Amino acid sequence: MDKEIATPTKTTEIIKKYGFSFKKSFGQNFLIDTNILRKIVDFALLTESSGVIEVGPGIGALTEQLAKNSKKVLAFEIDRRLEPILTETLDPYSNVNIVFEDFIKADVARYINENFQEIDDLVIVANLPYYITTPIIMKCLNEQLPVKRIVVMMQKEVASRLNAKPGTKDYGSLSIAVQYYTTVEVVMNVPRTVFVPQPNVDSAVVRLTSRPQPLVSVKNEAYFFQVVKASFSQRRKTIVNNLMAGLEKGKEKKEILLTALHEAKIDPRRRGETLSIEEFARLSDYLYDYFH
Ligand code: SAM
Repeated sequence: MDKEIATPTKTTEIIKKYGFSFKKSFGQNFLIDTNILRKIVDFALLTESSGVIEVGPGIGALTEQLAKNSKKVLAFEIDRRLEPILTETLDPYSNVNIVFEDFIKADVARYINENFQEIDDLVIVANLPYYITTPIIMKCLNEQLPVKRIVVMMQKEVASRLNAKPGTKDYGSLSIAVQYYTTVEVVMNVPRTVFVPQPNVDSAVVRLTSRPQPLVSVKNEAYFFQVVKASFSQRRKTIVNNLMAGLEKGKEKKEILLTALHEAKIDPRRRGETLSIEEFARLSDYLYDYFH
């Protein structure tokens, strides 16, 4: 290929040649700026022995840069109409495999076993389809995929939620889940002008680096996340009222909730959004003992 895929002229040429029409429902906004792509690749800290999983290669703009800078790329694309295009654009790269499957439904752990046996630095890199940013990230975390880093572009507002600190409006159960498993860095802001078609929002690239151990240790992880979820169910309610409404057996056990909050040194009149992850861990451990 004489020209990189992501230049505006090359992208337009490919789209025209195949009569491709963008599908909004698949979040199809393709990057047309090779500098931004190179920066994403830099932030992913790839080496020639890295393995990469990409979600949504589109016409292959980012895939091409990943192929040039790693050992092997496996990309999941939901839209089969892109198959002939990717066959042409990625033809020069023998280290790329494309799977035409919905990433959310795919058995990614099995694909990792089959494709990355010999790889020890596995990284997820993507310009995410914005309509499912959160489910994609939560899938990677919940299924505990053996990846070292996740470097992804997303809507700026979602990036702020991943990175949010207690006491801010963006802080919520998503911030806690992501920070529990990873360290979060918002590494670059990206204007909407570098995509075709242009989205209605600005974007940011986030790097999530897997922690060797979760940020806090808890007696029961699933229960910890239930306590977090309940605590945020109505943001204006106090923590004790949210726990009463949201926890199983919470309603008839206000006394127990108050005791656990007291033991965890948390004022029951505080709101969930003011609690640090350490405080949630302490509280969920006390509650777990009382309720199990
Ligand atoms: N990587 C390309 C780029 O940077 O130009 C395209 C990025 S575009 C924002 C998102 C891509 O994800 C599209 O190609 C879309 O078809 C694909 N996609 C959307 N939903 C998907 C899903 N559930 N699983 C896999 N791919 C998906």
